[in-house]
Amino acid sequence: MERDIGIETGRLLAVGSVAFDSVETPAGSRQKALGGSAAYFSIAASYLADVSLVGIVGQDFGDAHVETLRSRGVDLSGLERADGETFHWSGVYSTEDVNQRETLDTRLNVFADFRPVLSEAHRRSEYLFLANIDPELQLDVLRQMRERPKVVALDSMNFWIEGKRAELDRVVREVDMFFVDEGEARSCAGEANLARAARRIQAMGPRVVVVKRGEHGATVFDGDEVFAAPALPLESVADPTGAGDSFAGGFMGAIASTGDVSNDGLRRAAAVGCVFGSFTVEDFSVDRLSSLTREEIEARFQEFTELTRLEPFEGGAALPLTELT
Ligand code: AMP
Repeated sequence: MERDIGIETGRLLAVGSVAFDSVETPAGSRQKALGGSAAYFSIAASYLADVSLVGIVGQDFGDAHVETLRSRGVDLSGLERADGETFHWSGVYSTEDVNQRETLDTRLNVFADFRPVLSEAHRRSEYLFLANIDPELQLDVLRQMRERPKVVALDSMNFWIEGKRAELDRVVREVDMFFVDEGEARSCAGEANLARAARRIQAMGPRVVVVKRGEHGATVFDGDEVFAAPALPLESVADPTGAGDSFAGGFMGAIASTGDVSNDGLRRAAAVGCVFGSFTVEDFSVDRLSSLTREEIEARFQEFTELTRLEPFEGGAALPLTELT
């Protein structure tokens, strides 16, 4: 699985879970399909930037899955294969509201004892994404970087927010961007109001808090600015698993490729994130995400800009309000 990479590649480094996912959705079910936060993230990001994945799989992880990642150009020199079984997550989605899911089981398996040792090239990555995984591992990876990357971004999940809060807080303090879903933002901040919850998380350290809101899109809190990106209204959703990670992959891929972390750059990155999240949910596992063409991606980005386009009133006229003082 080793691939020799030059020091100049691996601009964007992702550490996180590479998994077998067993899911049941209103559209059907899949057993032990390719999943994991770092897998979704890397595949989405690979359309925009050089991406390297650091993670671990077991002996049961098939070559076809490795090939799926490799065929997208993901640098897999940091993907370890250990004795034991691959991380296995299973979940079931509500038939009434596909945004709602219940985790049935989380088996860390080979992740339980994983201690990544980054290669010299990986330690020099300019952009680092700490995808959803044990916060102790996330911190361990951050400590191994030779220089502070230009951007360090973080994702997590209730499993860790509830299970390893102190460790997670330590990572949150050191990152520039934190991706959370609505429920996680509330539980992380101990605050029901979403805007206040985001502000509270920003006060812990990150300049940017990106709240992922499933089929409602995402809200980017950047310093004092707020940007809301809608999700594309899709008529058929097969499997929402990995939408958040694909969103983050598109977002960080755009940032790593442009280097633009201005507020306008973050807005564009969020739009790109929404595009990749929308592809992921159209099929199970990474089936749709891993086989996109340039034309499909460009057309969907165009759809997104149309969705949010707003012209001024005719002739630049003022808002047609009734008499107001
Ligand atoms: P998302 O739907 O974007 O929130 O991410 C779902 C992915 O996260 C699945 O592919 C799972 O394999 C992975 N996952 C679920 N639970 C965990 C966990 N506790 N730690 C790391 N990855 C997880």
